[in-house]
Amino acid sequence: MQVLKTVAAFRAARAGCGDLGLVPTLGFLHEGHLSLVARARAENAAVAVSIFVNPTQFGPNEDLARYPRDLPRDLRLLEAAGVDLVFAPAPAEMYPPRFDLSIQVGGVTDVLEGAVRPGHFAGVATVVAKLFNIVQPTRAYFGQKDAQQCVVIQKLVRDLDMPVEVIVAPTVREADGLALSSRNSYLTPEQRAVAPAIFRGLLAAEALFDAGERDGDALRRAVRAAIEAEPQFSVDYISVADPETLAELDRAGACALVSIAARLGTTRLIDNILLG
Ligand code: AMP
Repeated sequence: MQVLKTVAAFRAARAGCGDLGLVPTLGFLHEGHLSLVARARAENAAVAVSIFVNPTQFGPNEDLARYPRDLPRDLRLLEAAGVDLVFAPAPAEMYPPRFDLSIQVGGVTDVLEGAVRPGHFAGVATVVAKLFNIVQPTRAYFGQKDAQQCVVIQKLVRDLDMPVEVIVAPTVREADGLALSSRNSYLTPEQRAVAPAIFRGLLAAEALFDAGERDGDALRRAVRAAIEAEPQFSVDYISVADPETLAELDRAGACALVSIAARLGTTRLIDNILLG
């Protein structure tokens, strides 16, 4: 496994790789990331993982400074997973002096995470476009855990005619349903114990949907009841939306995306489930 820190070194290493799968990450890897790596390993001649805590996707009052980092551990996990190339640039390599570009993906970034985290998806779209240009992947792998991010990336690739196949892989969960996330490391034991209420809320909506309920507010209420059964939670949003446009639905059709953002203390957790 080669670990490259500069664009020039990565380009030189990538040259002989053929079909390449890319898994972009912020590092502090867990089984969710590794499931994307395994999928990329199975579908490509070679696999690249990027590890970059991208400052431009964090808001001024967010957790950039305290975001967990452990590069030596990440590299051990990636080596064991059979990764060929790791791109781990410093911020100055990605954003040199006089860097001045931001990609605004329209429409789907105004709602949900985009509404609560202004500028977040411009940061994501810009860094992913740069990573695609540097890495030149054949396929790029993203987790359903960040459903809106997947929609934004698919739109980025389509609207800019990028020659990359975007693959969305299922959310990996703990045994009690909590979606794996690097941010779970912030939770106190008490918060960790109540955190699975988020997934219980999603399952409650799924059970109603499977029983024929299509009213958007009835589905939202079911999610809210499960989460608010745990008074430590403060809910940012509960959404029942069209999976492609992310527009809120009065009535669910054949499918709907149910998503949640909620806080436990200062830790913000997101999760979602696709219905239908
Ligand atoms: P992050 O390091 O949080 O930016 O995540 C890197 C990639 O891993 C993104 O495409 C995420 O959607 C994906 N990911 C994060 N958590 C999970 C999970 N629990 N299951 C599947 N994919 C995940």
